[in-house]
Amino acid sequence: MDLISIIVPCFNEEETVNDFYNVSRDNFNLIENVRFEYIFIDDGSTDETLKNIKHLSSRDNIEIHYVSFSRNFGKEAALYAGLKYATGKFVVVMDVDLQDPPKLVKNMYELINTSDIDCVAARRVDRTGEPRIKSLFSNIFYFIINKLSDTKIVPGARDFRMMTRKMVDSILSMTEYNRFSKGIFSWVGFETKYLEYKNVERKNGSSSWPFWKLFRYSVDGITDFSEVPLALASWVGTISFILSIFGMAFIVLRAIIVPGSSVYGWASLICVFLLFGGIQLLCLGIVGKYIGKIYLQTKNRPIYIVRETK
Ligand code: UDP
Ligand code: MG
Repeated sequence: MDLISIIVPCFNEEETVNDFYNVSRDNFNLIENVRFEYIFIDDGSTDETLKNIKHLSSRDNIEIHYVSFSRNFGKEAALYAGLKYATGKFVVVMDVDLQDPPKLVKNMYELINTSDIDCVAARRVDRTGEPRIKSLFSNIFYFIINKLSDTKIVPGARDFRMMTRKMVDSILSMTEYNRFSKGIFSWVGFETKYLEYKNVERKNGSSSWPFWKLFRYSVDGITDFSEVPLALASWVGTISFILSIFGMAFIVLRAIIVPGSSVYGWASLICVFLLFGGIQLLCLGIVGKYIGKIYLQTKNRPIYIVRETK
């Protein structure tokens, strides 16, 4: 019998853990000839999440493990920890809020088991129920990252996926501190099939991804998997240098042709100063972002710290 590990990151999810377990259990029971183990990652929740998980794990005879972090390290860290603790031949990563339909796991298993692929992932084909502005920004994000990075990311693809042990081991070999899972899943390669499904809205609890957190996450995603912004800085510098040569030539010629005209336009001069000052700071900021990442990586801090586990 194949063992399938289910990795579930949870952050303040006291309202959803039990529902998730019951619904997913019912669905998984329909799959024949497999065993399941659950690995709940309590990502430093401050509510009763851990208590609920412990209750589940003492109640049922199915294997329910948990790893509880010493504080909130973020979903990416939780996924990494989950993959580390998983022992299954196949590993599934899914959210606890039932936005990743558990019934798809059966299809995933059938696909991965009967063909030669190493990953079956879920892909949302619509975004009903999501604020328009959020969808707009995620479309812009997918457009930019796929233009700037060699690591391609499929629009709407979720973290929700089933992977073979081979693929999980290669993800674990990437020990980088700044983790952007969508990029990592794509970077390690392996053939991935996508199962499409209609968006499901969260029933209980609330999303822990406000707009700014998502925005920072997408900037991190782009800088983790592309060096193009760095090149952009030098391009902008080169172009403004060339433009300034033309500007200087223009001023010198004008001074020769129309004597006494050179003092005109100090206001426009200030504007140009401000423009270039701004561009310089922006480029410095881009460079700074990468230096910050190098700084964090060289410290070699652990990706997560475990407080308690079973
Ligand atoms: N999550 C986590 N750590 C965090 C934030 C979220 O482990 O710091 C988990 C959360 O419990 C859920 C999943 O990541 O299982 C997705 O989070 P959420 O539903 O808030 O995101 P959304 O679906 O809105 O993108
Ligand atoms: Mg969600």
